[in-house]
Amino acid sequence: MAETRTVETKINLSEKDIPKRWYNITADFKTPMKPPLNPGTKQVLSAQDLAAIFPDSLIEQEVSTQRWIDIPQEVLDVYSMWRPTPLFRAHRLEKAIGTPAKIYYKYEGTSPAGSHKPNTAVPQAFYNKQAGIKRLATETGAGQWGSALSFACTLFDLECLVYMVMVSYDQKPYRRSLMQVWGSDVIPSPSNSTQSGRSILEMDPDSPGSLGIAISEAVEDAATHNDTNYALGSVLNHVLLHQTVIGQEAKQQLDLVGDYPDVVIGCCGGGSNFGGLAFPFLADKMDGSKDFRAVAVEPSACPTLTKGKLAYDFGDTAKLTPLVYMHTLGHDFIPPQIHAGGLRYHGVAPLISHLLKEGLIESLDVSQVEIFHAAITFAQSEGILPAPESAHAIRGAIAEAIRCRETGESKTILFALSGHGHFDLSAYDNYLGGRLEDYVMPDEDVAKALASLPQI
Ligand SMILES: *Cc1c(COP(=O)(O)O)cnc(C)c1O
Repeated sequence: MAETRTVETKINLSEKDIPKRWYNITADFKTPMKPPLNPGTKQVLSAQDLAAIFPDSLIEQEVSTQRWIDIPQEVLDVYSMWRPTPLFRAHRLEKAIGTPAKIYYKYEGTSPAGSHKPNTAVPQAFYNKQAGIKRLATETGAGQWGSALSFACTLFDLECLVYMVMVSYDQKPYRRSLMQVWGSDVIPSPSNSTQSGRSILEMDPDSPGSLGIAISEAVEDAATHNDTNYALGSVLNHVLLHQTVIGQEAKQQLDLVGDYPDVVIGCCGGGSNFGGLAFPFLADKMDGSKDFRAVAVEPSACPTLTKGKLAYDFGDTAKLTPLVYMHTLGHDFIPPQIHAGGLRYHGVAPLISHLLKEGLIESLDVSQVEIFHAAITFAQSEGILPAPESAHAIRGAIAEAIRCRETGESKTILFALSGHGHFDLSAYDNYLGGRLEDYVMPDEDVAKALASLPQI
């Protein structure tokens, strides 16, 4: 039985197999993480400090050390629109590479917004609605998070205001339309609507914007309106918690075919899809029952984990967010405009930084030409057009598979295909037209960016 099953292409679960709880990895840490600090006093952050922009239920999850947290029925009902997501065995990709490795990918592009982000957008909208909030403010870069939150807000009858990084607003008009279809207001950032936006525009009227700037605007908006809260699509503990449905399902699916990964791979911007896939497996590594490698793949144009410094830093440019202990390129970081692959945030989830420091995960940086090359190989074998972000994970998986071809090892490789690239065809067009250059952030630029780190 197991033998015929291992040749299956699509490993499906049924609706009753959707996980009923989220897995909180902090419960299994042997050494505690450093706490976030209040940006003004630099003292340990209190729950009260967060109450101006988050509902109590999410603040509780943010600081919880309870291993399992129940998923509300209302959230499960929405999850069932697209979960469980399929796990694919990449037979055709394996053949194209000529590898003895087994490659599996967990595909999150089947959600209405086309990525893993609704896994957290939905509970965030639900808890805010429950707390009596009328409106959510947020930021978006490429538009994936903005569209996921717009989708969730429309289901729970909340208004949604999205500060969209200026360059993306101009370059990704269709993501903007998608957010507007779901009823959101979309404002290019930096904008004149907030003090943070105005001060950036005073210094640089042609600012292309950045996630750091857009976060400042959204946080300021939430903090200055009573009926408005803030929602973040990655980085925070509760966001990574919500994403653990991905890894829990993947574990069940691999169980069905009698397999377990030797390598788990995800692309890493803020760390939520990588964490969502890897954390439920890392539970086995931490209790010593299994051993495998977990690899977070990031762009060499924004090498937060591989070249950034582990330090306290702000999450945004205007220094409104708490100081968090994470790998960072400095809160003033503005990504090069030629970079098409997403994943451009200056920091990363403290949970991911902690795991890297503890030696439980690894990081790898790859260039944008490499990732588009991998994306095309993938699309031509597996058929799915990947989001450029997800293509980082594909690149990582292909590199592992090639290594297996050279050593003859038949390892099991599992990666997260975090979303589809149907809204990213202009980036593909640039790649196909030979207009994408590689960009590696020079060490002196890293040093310069890091000079702005606060002294703690
Ligand atoms: C937002 C996004 C990412 C990066 O965010 P993480 O928090 O690192 O997961 C990756 N892939 C897709 C498709 C995204 O939309």
